[in-house]
Amino acid sequence: MATKTQTQKEPEKKILSVKDQGFWSRLAHRRIRLLRLSVQISSFIILNAGIFGVARTFIPLPISQPTGAPFSIVWGGFEAIEYALTNSILPFFALGVFMISAVLVGRAGCGWVCPMGLYQRSVGAIPTKKAKISKPDNKDLNGIGGFLMALFLLLAFGIGFMNLTNLGNAFIRMPYTPFDPSATLFGSIFYYSKFGNSPPGVGMDFIGDVFSLYTFMFIFRIVIFFLVTLLVMYVPQGYCRWFCPTGALMGYFSKNSILGISRDPVRCTNCGDCETACPMGVPILDYSHKKVTDSMCTNCGDCIDACNYNAINFSLNF
Ligand code: SF4
Ligand code: SF4
Ligand code: SF4
Repeated sequence: MATKTQTQKEPEKKILSVKDQGFWSRLAHRRIRLLRLSVQISSFIILNAGIFGVARTFIPLPISQPTGAPFSIVWGGFEAIEYALTNSILPFFALGVFMISAVLVGRAGCGWVCPMGLYQRSVGAIPTKKAKISKPDNKDLNGIGGFLMALFLLLAFGIGFMNLTNLGNAFIRMPYTPFDPSATLFGSIFYYSKFGNSPPGVGMDFIGDVFSLYTFMFIFRIVIFFLVTLLVMYVPQGYCRWFCPTGALMGYFSKNSILGISRDPVRCTNCGDCETACPMGVPILDYSHKKVTDSMCTNCGDCIDACNYNAINFSLNF
């Protein structure tokens, strides 16, 4: 006689979507997001420990941390590279930090530490109808960050080559700064609100006494900052995805990182929930289950939280 298992298939267990599950289950589905939020907030406080009297250091990190932020104790890595180039120094140290961290943990600095990443995450939480960006468009637009990175590094190199930094202007020592929404948010707004048109020695001394030019530059920066804020309200992490030169530079080195994201091909049902949850729009299912090698992946872990089948997780790839 045929056994039950031979003749009848057990009814498949219905998997509820995350929003239909109970409180504890929903909380479990947010465990990495909550952990990440606490790390991001703690990092923001530590990086700005100057407010507690901690001295500024020369440590460059592969994140967008403006050197001009009033209480910052570290350097943003891209600014450090620009600064070295404009001063005719080869940026071995900052580049080395980029490469080593990218090989070890990929773009985890973006996902877990960068204050501008936290800002975008906060603005992105404002309930708006998020824009639907196709996978090819997302990939194409990602090229803008690489273009900006190359453009400003070339500019920095040219300035260093022509030895123009004796003009003493921070905008010349770090040419991307006027366009950097992070520098505006964490630096310029503070200085402008505190010192108005006469900021003392914050690297703007070159134009500080030229009233109208300084004001013009400030308005210029605010406009860019406003546009970026508008973008990230409708496209999660829009600045990270498409424009940030720091992220673009990290993306070149992070594809072969040891820490990564992999899928279990047996458990995975190709439901696509992980792709929907990914704040960077990474086409996870287009990659081999062994590792997502997308230059945009920040190892944030949101895809892990989103999976109902425990089919995707962090992995170490040697
Ligand atoms: S890509 Fe985003 S998270 Fe990464 S450094 Fe740039 S702003 Fe920060
Ligand atoms: S990894 Fe999980 S969320 Fe992603 S497609 Fe597979 S089953 Fe769905
Ligand atoms: S693939 Fe996963 S870990 Fe990578 S950015 Fe997207 S959600 Fe984050």
